[in-house]
Amino acid sequence: MNSDVQYVYRTHPRARSVSISIRDGAVVITSPRFVPRMFVQAFVKRSEAWISQHLEKARGAFEKKQSMRKKNTVLFLGNEYQVTVDETRPRGITVEETTLYVHPVNRTETSVQRAIERWYSAQAESLITRLAHELAKRMDVSFENIRFRTQKTRWGSCSIRGTLSFNRKLIGAPREVIEYVIIHELTHITHMNHGKTFWERVAMFDPLHKTHKKWLRTHGVLL
Ligand SMILES: [Zn+2]
Repeated sequence: MNSDVQYVYRTHPRARSVSISIRDGAVVITSPRFVPRMFVQAFVKRSEAWISQHLEKARGAFEKKQSMRKKNTVLFLGNEYQVTVDETRPRGITVEETTLYVHPVNRTETSVQRAIERWYSAQAESLITRLAHELAKRMDVSFENIRFRTQKTRWGSCSIRGTLSFNRKLIGAPREVIEYVIIHELTHITHMNHGKTFWERVAMFDPLHKTHKKWLRTHGVLL
């Protein structure tokens, strides 16, 4: 089996047969509860050709999308938006389908940039704060404080005192990638290092964490 590909095995009470799908570059195998793992693995083995063909296709589509990203676009929650200045719209930012309309304070480039940044920060802070509270509850941990920064490459951190810190630029990433970063930092509340038990706990709340981590490594520069 392809070793740099992540295989995720899942059981589903309503699944009638074993099925394979490609999600975020990972291979997800869903099977009914009572199908023995050996049978499932044999099925995956037989489907290798199909899997590699579809993985290739999924990668190609994604790369094409990335190379098409041009000037005057921004990434928001993993999607690309065209930036258009439109003074007939309300002051600030309005989003409609794939367009981000900007009505800046004045017509300078800086003013447009500032309006976008302000909106971006507000979106990042409110979504990440909400998700951090939800995930902390699900993971049964609590944190003291949440802070935001705008940094080049650091996505998040967790202090010994339980203060979480997140990069505002994360708002450009898909939601599941943002959740991965939050889960990672919330796991540090109980596990300060990156040992085996740390990653086991991360995997409990984000089975696709390897894919999400990889996404940040390859697309982080675009954010
Ligand atoms: Zn860490």
